[in-house]
Amino acid sequence: MEENKHFETIAVRSQIERTANMEHSVPLYLTSGFVFEDAEEMRASFAEEKQRDLYSRYSNPNTNEFISKICKLEGAEAGFAFASGMAAVYSTFAALLSSGDHIVSARSVFGATHGLFTKYFPKWNIETSYFSVNEVEKVASLIQPNTKFIYCETPTNPGVDVLDMEYLSDIAKKHNILLIVDNCFATPYLQNPIKFGADLVIHSATKLIDGQGRVLGGITVGNAELIREIYLFSRLTGPSMSPFNAWVLSKSLETLAVRADKQCDNALKLAEFLERHSKVAWVKYPFLKSHPSYEIAKKQMRLGGTIVAFEVKGGVSAGKTFFDNIKMCSLSANLGDSRTIVTHPASTTHAKLSDKDKQVVGITPGMVRCSLGLEHIDDIIKDIEQALSTI
Ligand SMILES: *Cc1c(COP(=O)(O)O)cnc(C)c1O
Repeated sequence: MEENKHFETIAVRSQIERTANMEHSVPLYLTSGFVFEDAEEMRASFAEEKQRDLYSRYSNPNTNEFISKICKLEGAEAGFAFASGMAAVYSTFAALLSSGDHIVSARSVFGATHGLFTKYFPKWNIETSYFSVNEVEKVASLIQPNTKFIYCETPTNPGVDVLDMEYLSDIAKKHNILLIVDNCFATPYLQNPIKFGADLVIHSATKLIDGQGRVLGGITVGNAELIREIYLFSRLTGPSMSPFNAWVLSKSLETLAVRADKQCDNALKLAEFLERHSKVAWVKYPFLKSHPSYEIAKKQMRLGGTIVAFEVKGGVSAGKTFFDNIKMCSLSANLGDSRTIVTHPASTTHAKLSDKDKQVVGITPGMVRCSLGLEHIDDIIKDIEQALSTI
């Protein structure tokens, strides 16, 4: 973080240099390529003796702006921006891993990330060992001579479990391997994993960074040497963020803090309401004292986040009834939107998993995940309360 300036100020005030037109807002650079004065300038630019934009698969003023803002907000040396969160996850792994390498990952990770570990990486002779979020003390025992990374998300999706990044980074350092954290649920506003020892931080900017359900985007930031490897892989393979999306997302960062403050406040109020409700078996929210990792959450996070997980009494059928009777909130798989979204994983996104597999990834029959939006909390609670009353 830039010295003496607060998050909000950096998010609003850091921008690339103005052009001769002295525009106040950063213009959109929809250009695939850039021109050169002469053969020598072009040679020097391609040889990287001269730093400038060459071609938008490599870099573009809008993606540069987005990257530089996230680097400042995360306290990172360098970064690269991608077309989606998954492009960031995939390219980071593909750039840094070789056949025969091994990953140690938390079991609860985003479904598509888990799909990479199980469906594709084994084809390239990259194996993954998993630890569950409530047994981090086992992590060290999973490390092999060929292990390259410890990988995790915190808070996790959908169970909002919290992992101790300082603990994981101590293990990583002791074994001379990397800690990579997907910081999507927290955003750079709520938590900076680099401060707790992470080497690389990944975001799906599609979620709370965009915050209005408009564009896809992803970014990886951190250690400059590692980012250089990721950059070289990405400029060759082409998963780069589009200038338009970068322009939207740079603007979104200006409002991230006020949106997140309000959405986290809504989330805490909903969590407190649900904790008192007779039809609710349990509620999980990082800033509720009842959360198993409350102390770690308080250490790592500015606020508790925008996602609340809870279990309605009565299993899958009660969960379905609740879901079917929601009137205002959106039934959708997205999260981090300005509109409140509810999902019932057991009857929708994870319905195909066996009961045992659901248990393994932490999905219980009546579990509901609620991503709080910007509506008035009384209206959100009213909708959830009337849906609960139908069970
Ligand atoms: C959504 C999500 C992703 C993937 O991001 P996309 O932008 O949808 O590709 C990765 N990690 C987490 C934790 C997510 O929630």
